[in-house]
Amino acid sequence: MELVSAVPANIPSELSWWQQDVRSSFTIKNLPPLSGNIEVDVLIVGGGFTGMWTALTLKKREPSLRIAIVDAYRCGDGASARNGGNVHGYWGALPTLLPMYGAQKSLEAAELGTLAQRKLRHFAETHDVWWTEEGYLRVATSAAQRSKLNDFMKVAETLGFPSSVRRLSKSNLSELCNSPRFEEGLLFEEGATVHPARLAHFLREEVISAGVQVYEDTPVLRVSKGEPCQVNTARGGVTARDVVLATYTGTMSVPSVYKATTLFSSFPVMSNANELELERLNYRVARGIADLRMFTHYFRRTRDGRILMGSGSGPIAIGGKHSASDLRSDQRSADRAAIGLQRFFPSIAKAGIAARWGFPIEVTSDRLPYFGTISGSRIHYGSGYSGHGVNATVIAGECLASIILRTADRWSTSPFCKRDRLRFPPEPFRFVGGALIRNAIVTCEDAQDAGLRQPLIARGIADIPRMIGMRIGTR
Ligand SMILES: Cc1cc2nc3c(=O)[nH]c(=O)nc-3n(C[C@H](O)[C@H](O)[C@H](O)COP(=O)(O)OP(=O)(O)OC[C@H]3O[C@@H](n4cnc5c(N)ncnc54)[C@H](O)[C@@H]3O)c2cc1C
Repeated sequence: MELVSAVPANIPSELSWWQQDVRSSFTIKNLPPLSGNIEVDVLIVGGGFTGMWTALTLKKREPSLRIAIVDAYRCGDGASARNGGNVHGYWGALPTLLPMYGAQKSLEAAELGTLAQRKLRHFAETHDVWWTEEGYLRVATSAAQRSKLNDFMKVAETLGFPSSVRRLSKSNLSELCNSPRFEEGLLFEEGATVHPARLAHFLREEVISAGVQVYEDTPVLRVSKGEPCQVNTARGGVTARDVVLATYTGTMSVPSVYKATTLFSSFPVMSNANELELERLNYRVARGIADLRMFTHYFRRTRDGRILMGSGSGPIAIGGKHSASDLRSDQRSADRAAIGLQRFFPSIAKAGIAARWGFPIEVTSDRLPYFGTISGSRIHYGSGYSGHGVNATVIAGECLASIILRTADRWSTSPFCKRDRLRFPPEPFRFVGGALIRNAIVTCEDAQDAGLRQPLIARGIADIPRMIGMRIGTR
């Protein structure tokens, strides 16, 4: 199969604030590209969080494995170093998972997220990745969002885990973070924030020192199944028993991924630092927060006194075209994030914006990632994080390692590897329908936030995904 080119990751003006920060703190040189032919047990295409956690997990489970990672750019410079750095598993997703998968599978997914969180915490003990573990806050900013809090509490009581989540009144919330927009909230015990580019940087160092061969600036052009598989790059080739496509949105070239995944984009802005003002707002620790819109505003403070505000309502890609430039730079989407900052934290917005950026997001119909194998081959893949990959890529590492080592365990038999996924329609219906629904949802949610009635037609269109059982919308 031909692989699509990676999303451009080396354009200086498009780097995230996190990447600029890491570049100013560490001197990092790209590793030499692959030239000539090599033979390994496992070749991982793509050195983001997915590829690097998979390599480290495999090395830990079977140290003698010969593993190589090949990346089109520098490992970690894709989505992994450009996200919001909010870290949480799947407890908050239970109200929507429960009707689709039942109690047992839904709880299994949430428990694996807890194990992933533990592994991240362990990594952070020895690497300065700005890890702050203070739970995860979901806030309601309208009556419609408040009713979602009720739904969640009902599910928590039914499934028997009410103690891991706490309902907060407006005044409770103001003690944690005093925004004029917050009406009520839920504080999940499990949740953290991280500096994503530092995490990517230290993972890359760990991978290299674990003895994984790493080749950068090496786009993979083609992967052919066989025993062994053959992989072609511009100036070399790899023979490998197993190949992992850890190429994020590039996995859209796998037909089974394409059918169940659609591409959106997400745009964060990072404010200038204003530690004194954050202190005045009682926003003292870097706890991650998101509202309960379908296209959420997600935000968090940083260790050095800034607020990152992101909006997951960027443009939709046509087909699998993940390199379209509007997925990385779209003025209206970046403005929506900046307006979010202004609404939630007007006094911080006054300090100005230090950086803005955007990047594609691969969203599945149930918003869970999926890890699997292309039938009749030893080519594996992992993607579909739906804007929620810092924790889930640790799950990816475990699941893909179990799949490669052919181990039947709680990872390889989990819903992340074994479940039926709803399919999206083919093009052009996918793009036209997706764009219509996205615009309708944004219109309705803007009206709710402003305390206005939702336009009737927009409301009807916005309800379509739910009526057919999809959980569409991103972080
Ligand atoms: C703006 C934004 C905000 C987000 N916020 C959050 C958040 O707050 N919390 C959260 O949990 N998640 C968040 N996410 C999601 C999270 O960033 C991703 O799910 C995660 O980083 C995916 O990791 P990955 O390794 O699969 O992808 P990537 O990090 O993109 O790695 C894929 C790698 O594959 C390489 N590649 C692709 N094709 C080829 C090829 N043909 N040959 C060689 N190499 C190739 C690329 O160069 C890249 O390095 C956000 C995402 C975005 C875009």
